[in-house]
Amino acid sequence: MSVLPTIDHWHDGAAWAGTSERTAPVRNPATGDEVAAVRLASAADTTTVVRRARDAADDWRTASLSKRTKVLFGFRQLLDERADEVAEVITRQHGKVRSDAFGEVQRGLEVVEFACGVGSLLKGSHSEQASTGVDVTSILQPVGVAVGITPFNFPAMVPLWMVPVALACGNAFVLKPSERDPGASLLLAEMLAEAGLPAGVFSVLQGDREVVDALLTDPLVDAVSFVGSTPVARHVYETATAAGKRVQALGGAKNHQVVLPDADLDAAAGAAVSAAYGSAGERCMAISVVVAVDPVGDALVERIAKLAAEVVVADGAEPGTDMGPLITAEHRDRVASMVDAGEQAGAAVVVDGRGLSVAGRPGGFFLGPSLLDHVTPDMTVYRDEIFGPVLCVVRVPSYDAAVALVRDNPYGNGVSLFTRDGGAARRFTFEVEAGMVGINVPIPVPMAYYSFGGWNDSLFGDTHVHGPEGVHFYTRSKVVTSRWDEPATAGADLGFPTNT
Ligand code: NAD
Repeated sequence: MSVLPTIDHWHDGAAWAGTSERTAPVRNPATGDEVAAVRLASAADTTTVVRRARDAADDWRTASLSKRTKVLFGFRQLLDERADEVAEVITRQHGKVRSDAFGEVQRGLEVVEFACGVGSLLKGSHSEQASTGVDVTSILQPVGVAVGITPFNFPAMVPLWMVPVALACGNAFVLKPSERDPGASLLLAEMLAEAGLPAGVFSVLQGDREVVDALLTDPLVDAVSFVGSTPVARHVYETATAAGKRVQALGGAKNHQVVLPDADLDAAAGAAVSAAYGSAGERCMAISVVVAVDPVGDALVERIAKLAAEVVVADGAEPGTDMGPLITAEHRDRVASMVDAGEQAGAAVVVDGRGLSVAGRPGGFFLGPSLLDHVTPDMTVYRDEIFGPVLCVVRVPSYDAAVALVRDNPYGNGVSLFTRDGGAARRFTFEVEAGMVGINVPIPVPMAYYSFGGWNDSLFGDTHVHGPEGVHFYTRSKVVTSRWDEPATAGADLGFPTNT
């Protein structure tokens, strides 16, 4: 009988079993087979890890910027060398195709590279002679213990949005990855340790709601970064802010691609298919609604349908696969039921991914691409986040109607416009309600040196992740007012100090 591997926590610089007996199965979504068991930490395990992180944070903040930079450069080198290995684990536990898994590691690496510039990022400011003989200096200091709670859909990239920046700023970091595909988290921990990060500065707590709720209220936690669905993001934001922590909680999405009549329709259709069905639609920046501005609807739907029908759905580990399975059987069934609901509400199912079977993978959680035309804003298939390979087309009469549709949607993560008209693009950029905008770019994920985040129900809190806003989130500013010259007058003066 084969014994499945157990995925541990990472505590005090090494793998750790903790004290909880609870575990959850980790499956390969392409086969349905259980490939590992992940430990689920208890509240007591959480206290142990956070206490160690608190002590480690006190030491790590004293490490020089040169020392921190050296660790980050070492980590970057190791991650680059082991990117294939990380991608392989991601494909096995998440199901996405290997090139996609490799791509997410590369986007994560870019954040590590950004954080390697910590010396420039943490420069404060100085005003000489702010008042006569008085200088003012502002400095940035770490917040202390930062926590990251991350979703299943990017098991390496989303932790890497947070970890390098938090560590560069001098914080300790506790990662709580998704329990569905936790393998990549331990590879990151190993590499950070090998790069010279002191024990306790980075920890991983595997688990579910129990550990999340313990982290959100632990008095030794200072900052919480969360990425996941909107209901949980709202819970995390409300619970952790009530406990006095700073919080950034990124939630779900419903991203629109607006296509104007003057757009290159072949380019717009290709972009829609890539952005809707890539990673089986399980991306927070996936396009889930194409907004076809009259009269492009028929010509656009015809092109999208042709390309969608050509998508190769198979095991993500097999070469030539375009799209792998969904994360669980339950999620696959939920996505299929949303297509049912759209059809019953009157949408036309132009491409139907329900009932697809993949040869040699009878237990896999597969669903083919679906394309629904004539969707209207009152349908659940439009209103709710689907997070699967389903693309809805909403037809609108004008540019103004398209902008109003996006504005009235509760989410506001990404949005894109396809047009050849620079004036329309500029106006759209000014008017549209979303945090990330693409012009003839379907998935406008910002580079690491900008910040990533949405608006409205896609983000609770006021800072986006990585880039300058990440540095802002993981630091506190301190302003020092100092006088070193001889005081003009000796003795007490109880008046409010004025500048001279
Ligand atoms: P999820 O909300 O179910 O889980 C996210 C994390 O929260 C996981 O670590 C999970 O263990 C934990 N969690 C789940 N339920 C909880 C609860 N009731 N209480 C406390 N913690 C809980 O999300 P998911 O299914 O892993 O990921 C998909 C979602 O993430 C989608 O909604 C997607 O749009 C969103 N997402 C958003 C972004 C973004 O940048 N805005 C990026 C990636 C994913």
